[in-house]
Amino acid sequence: MALNAEIKSQLNQYLQLLEGDLVLKVSAGSDKVSEEMLTLIDELASMTSKITVEKVKLNRTPSFSVNRVGEDTGITFAGVPLGHEFTSLVLALLQVSGRAPKVDENVIDQIKKIKGEYHFETYVSLSCHNCPDVVQALNIMSVLNPGITHTMIDGAAYKDEVEKKDVLAVPAVYLNGESFGNGRMSLEEILAKLGEGPSADALSNKEPFDVLVVGGGPAGASAAIYAARKGIRTGIVAERFGGQILDTLSIENFISVKNTEGPKLAAALEEHVKEYDIDVMNLQRAKGLEKKDFIEVELENGAVLKSKTVIISTGARWRNVNVPGEQEFKNKGVAYCPHCDGPLFEGKDVAVIGGGNSGVEAAIDLAGIVKHVTVLEFMPELKADEVLQKRLYSLPNVTVVKNVQTKEITGTDKVDGITYIDRETEEEKHIELAGVFVQIGLVPNTDWLEGTLERNRIGEIVVDKRGATTVPGVFAAGDCTDSAYNQIIISMGSGATAALGAFDYLIRN
Ligand SMILES: Cc1cc2nc3c(=O)[nH]c(=O)nc-3n(C[C@H](O)[C@H](O)[C@H](O)COP(=O)(O)OP(=O)(O)OC[C@H]3O[C@@H](n4cnc5c(N)ncnc54)[C@H](O)[C@@H]3O)c2cc1C
Repeated sequence: MALNAEIKSQLNQYLQLLEGDLVLKVSAGSDKVSEEMLTLIDELASMTSKITVEKVKLNRTPSFSVNRVGEDTGITFAGVPLGHEFTSLVLALLQVSGRAPKVDENVIDQIKKIKGEYHFETYVSLSCHNCPDVVQALNIMSVLNPGITHTMIDGAAYKDEVEKKDVLAVPAVYLNGESFGNGRMSLEEILAKLGEGPSADALSNKEPFDVLVVGGGPAGASAAIYAARKGIRTGIVAERFGGQILDTLSIENFISVKNTEGPKLAAALEEHVKEYDIDVMNLQRAKGLEKKDFIEVELENGAVLKSKTVIISTGARWRNVNVPGEQEFKNKGVAYCPHCDGPLFEGKDVAVIGGGNSGVEAAIDLAGIVKHVTVLEFMPELKADEVLQKRLYSLPNVTVVKNVQTKEITGTDKVDGITYIDRETEEEKHIELAGVFVQIGLVPNTDWLEGTLERNRIGEIVVDKRGATTVPGVFAAGDCTDSAYNQIIISMGSGATAALGAFDYLIRN
């Protein structure tokens, strides 16, 4: 496999930016993946005199590590880091060569101060858009701290390991041989998981805010920027900065941007927020709200933040089917992100629960990878757009089963099938499969507000045209509210409305 001209030209440009010399230590056999890896490495070495190659025996073959001369950094790629991992390879080369990673100075300090031995391994698929963030974060940690190592493992090249460890969702991170976490994790999240986050006292001791935004998706980011632009003291506390857009790949309806990817848009939101004097408290989950002299927001770690006004923008999350087996087999065959986890079911049978747009899109996507897809729809007809249904029905390896209710996702240590009831005949049926993708919509993240403000029948916060809730000084925006449609541009608009509403409230009170 020779590299295509576009990748070669990109590499050429990046390699100009190398600061110091690098040694790639390569462990190769005579298999096809080793061959592809060697082609990539030979091409790299032929493009710059700063890279030399040493043949060695590493823990895994095929794999290669990226090192400084005379100093191993602990960054290893097991497989060929192309596809979505190409950027991870380029960044590893640049950072090991001496270019500083683009992260906050205090995060760099935090990483350098970590004591002990941490050997991370991350199983990825090259088509997973959430994986590179994790790979790149752990690589940065390896570059900065000699006690930390990280190996990216392409699941497709290491099928035996993946089967043995029952990895059915990527990225899957292991620390010193034990499972550490699944799914997208930012550098800050990994540090927090290692117990390196800010203390509850440090958060509680903050001066009261004028506007405190709870939630860091498109609505929260927009609200915080609009508030900060009024010159008032603004904070944003978020469980996972970026929100739902982190879980989507292609966005084509964010007006003025023809096409972008969710994680890219999330990074742009963060960059825009950081342009302003906004106190960003990421990886903190709010668990309660109370109006006293100030409005107090209690966090899960026990900290209490005070503010004159609060904007709630906690968005929404995947809706669960709530049948036996769903919780037990999460990441063991029950999945929610077809882009991420689809490749792990290559050649296998899967089901998609839900026949709306997201379910049918997922089924079409999966049909290109897996052996067979069964779509299960509760209603007598699919709800997806006509054009999607047409495409779905044209596929030879898809079966659509309508008017059925999922009863149970079955398995022992991982999913082995699904049981459903035909709603017309009441007959119970079982199909054997390896994976179930749940695609039945979203629920608002408002449980933590129980008993504090008015919510509608489905838990959405009721707001007026200024974004005000039924509690004076508390505003809300985005997917957590009763707005008619849930879209990025709509959330951002309502975030702006809520911030202007809060500012208006502040000057009147
Ligand atoms: C797979 C997928 C694809 C999509 N594609 C598109 C698309 O192409 N175009 C489009 O316009 N829209 C799309 N959407 C919809 C869009 O992503 C949402 O409408 C938008 O993200 C809503 O923004 P939000 O800020 O209201 O909420 P969210 O994006 O849900 O953000 C909520 C924020 O609140 C935080 N949070 C939640 N609970 C708490 C708590 N208790 N304490 C602190 N923080 C909390 C979350 O961590 C997050 O930071 C898609 C959604 C999904 C899931």
